[in-house]
Amino acid sequence: MTGGLWQDRQRVDCLVIGGGPAGLTAALYLARFRLSVQVIDRGAGRAASIPLTRNYPGFPDGISGRELVQRIGEQAVRYGARITTAEVATVERSGDIFQCRTSSGLIEASTVILATGIRDVRPPLDDELHAAALAAGLIRYCPICDGFEVSGRRVAVIGRGAHGAREAAFIRSYTDDVTLLAWDGTTNLDVTQRAGLAGAGIAVVDGAVASARMQHDKLILATDCGELAFDAVYPALGAQVASRIAQELGAQVNEDGYLHVDEHQRTGVPGLYAIGDVVAGLNQISRATAQAATAATALRNDLLLSPPP
Ligand SMILES: Cc1cc2nc3c(=O)[nH]c(=O)nc-3n(C[C@H](O)[C@H](O)[C@H](O)COP(=O)(O)OP(=O)(O)OC[C@H]3O[C@@H](n4cnc5c(N)ncnc54)[C@H](O)[C@@H]3O)c2cc1C
Repeated sequence: MTGGLWQDRQRVDCLVIGGGPAGLTAALYLARFRLSVQVIDRGAGRAASIPLTRNYPGFPDGISGRELVQRIGEQAVRYGARITTAEVATVERSGDIFQCRTSSGLIEASTVILATGIRDVRPPLDDELHAAALAAGLIRYCPICDGFEVSGRRVAVIGRGAHGAREAAFIRSYTDDVTLLAWDGTTNLDVTQRAGLAGAGIAVVDGAVASARMQHDKLILATDCGELAFDAVYPALGAQVASRIAQELGAQVNEDGYLHVDEHQRTGVPGLYAIGDVVAGLNQISRATAQAATAATALRNDLLLSPPP
């Protein structure tokens, strides 16, 4: 990736905002369609935080998210895509052109692909402990991705209400030792949810968590009900969806902020496409890369039918 300031404004066929698996795969396709493409990525996306993904096809021994992203980026650059470490602040539409203000300067683009992802809401752990626990697989965010790895282990879900109960029930299909708790002690479970959890053999702890620490290969949570040691803890606290730029352009989102798109990844704003976790649906790398291929191909065809001025 390159850094640095642009002295002059650039004009590209497509600006891709976000350099995770979605954005970089789109850039690869667009470059191979012989379009000029600029990726702007501020780093620290979800993919980059994956210690080892074992459910992405083609890597039977798994691959770290960071390495996967680097490889897709190298592949895209090989065909002419530019990738720059910077942040896109705003995008405005001026006639048929998108004016994109970034921390590295102004870019004019005929089309924009938004691949900005989401940010998981984290439990209140200090950054160092969170990073170490994530790297060690003691904190996990995606049971669809890595529930298999906690088979038969002692697992906690941090969450509340229907969302927390659903996640605990999902993980129960891997292990019979699942505990649901909320950091502040308010699990907000109604009688039916409690009965459902009890019937599934899922423990509920109604005590607040005062502190957490790593000890050997466990995450220890000190709660009002005593110290509890877990092999893995899944926060189920929701996410902040990075759809602001699209919303400011007039794109539609659902009640959680996820973008609505058509079957070709077009938002309702002409020339603006969205892919990956920022789009409502399953948050997985496979879906992100598939959507990238779909969006890039639609964009190529849309430009053929209405070329930029
Ligand atoms: C711990 C963990 C483990 C996971 N394990 C798996 C797994 O094993 N298998 C699997 O399929 N999925 C897994 N996932 C989910 C997977 O990471 C996501 O589905 C995938 O990364 C989505 O790709 P993306 O490109 O949409 O988003 P991201 O990978 O999050 O990339 C988005 C990028 O956009 C950038 N960005 C956002 N806003 C701006 C802006 N304004 N300007 C510039 N850049 C911006 C971000 O900084 C980020 O780099 C896991 C997620 C987590 C958190």
